[in-house]
Amino acid sequence: MDLQTKAIHVGYEKDSQRTMAVPIYQTTAYEFNDTQHAANLFSLKELGNIYTRLNNPTTDVFEKRFAEVEGGAASIATASGMSAIFYAIVNASEAGDNIICASQLYGGTLTQTTYTLKRLGIETRFFDVHKPEAIEALVDERTKIIFFESLTNPSIDVADIEAITTIANKYGILSVVDNTVATPILCRPFEFGADVIVHSTSKYTTGQGLALGGIMVERHNLVEKLKNNPRYTHFNEPDESYHGLVYTEVPLPPYSLRARLSLLRDLGAVPAPFNSWLFIQGLEHLSLRMQEHSKNALALALFLESHPKVTKVNYPGLKSNANYKNAQKYFDGGASSGLLSFEVSSYEEAAKVVDATKIYSLVVNIGDSKSIITHPASTTHQQLKDDELKACGVSQGLIRISCGLESINDLIADIKQALEA
Ligand SMILES: *Cc1c(COP(=O)(O)O)cnc(C)c1O
Repeated sequence: MDLQTKAIHVGYEKDSQRTMAVPIYQTTAYEFNDTQHAANLFSLKELGNIYTRLNNPTTDVFEKRFAEVEGGAASIATASGMSAIFYAIVNASEAGDNIICASQLYGGTLTQTTYTLKRLGIETRFFDVHKPEAIEALVDERTKIIFFESLTNPSIDVADIEAITTIANKYGILSVVDNTVATPILCRPFEFGADVIVHSTSKYTTGQGLALGGIMVERHNLVEKLKNNPRYTHFNEPDESYHGLVYTEVPLPPYSLRARLSLLRDLGAVPAPFNSWLFIQGLEHLSLRMQEHSKNALALALFLESHPKVTKVNYPGLKSNANYKNAQKYFDGGASSGLLSFEVSSYEEAAKVVDATKIYSLVVNIGDSKSIITHPASTTHQQLKDDELKACGVSQGLIRISCGLESINDLIADIKQALEA
């Protein structure tokens, strides 16, 4: 089955009502048939509904569908992208361990790794996403995860996925890829050796800025990498908190099983059933939208490149961009999603352009059908000094756009009048 068909059909079996739309099961808990049935569910002799913190039939359809669209074996939906990232990391690591992260990261991931995980005793070692060869020097026997974004937000770089997963495989370390900006429509990290993929579904999956959510997907046969691997004793030794279950000994995808049975049980942070339903609606047309976001962004980038007031344009789909080669290799037909940025001469000039636009909304989000414009130097990166700004590729005059689905003629005309105002 092709992606587009899976995104519309997988995981939903109609009940006696035969509803075409997936029902929203807005419930906290589920009634057991009798004590034997309850006991079977709790001991995993039977799989079924217990409590919505562990699973929910609407969320279940979303998880099955998203896992298939991403080409994975199973997935765990979460309350936000940040919780999906946290689960993907702490599922394999604990105090005393370390993880290796590309330094080009989403702001929340940067603070989660630098501050919150550090307080929990998990150290993060950073590498430049353009220099994957630097990873090997950072590896030791307590390294549990190599984490990076396929298409980085906000720096808009494209990772050499294969180069990074090759190193992860050499040392038997799990690679975790944040595929939020590229989406499974444009980029297929499992086909290039990734082990686990995470997303913020708050962005392109919902597609209209409707709901916060995240998802963690594991590849097929991940058990091969975990079984008897001394880095991952949690998966090979009995889990005391689940009456001695050994995750690599049961015929279920182990990374998701452990995340569900221990992390969802103990930490929660699951999506509301209604939000899962919104993500199901978003998935149905994700593929059409991603082609259109990419087409609009490329046309806008080409226009900006030709404008005399613009000193630089960053978009991986442009031949002039340092990421062009990786974009051609890793993205479907080179289609590079909706994020682009460009520079004008100064902070004041950038503020003037942003304030003069009429269609673009000044918002710190991406992946909406509505176009979004941001000025990092006055918002997300306001606290940083000039040299720190430079280090993360943000100049005073940098403007970032999440290109929406409006008519490209209107999007270009609006930016043009704002530049020339
Ligand atoms: C937004 C975003 C996140 C965080 O997701 P939330 O759903 O806002 O928690 C993580 N990674 C990337 C690349 C993002 O763009």
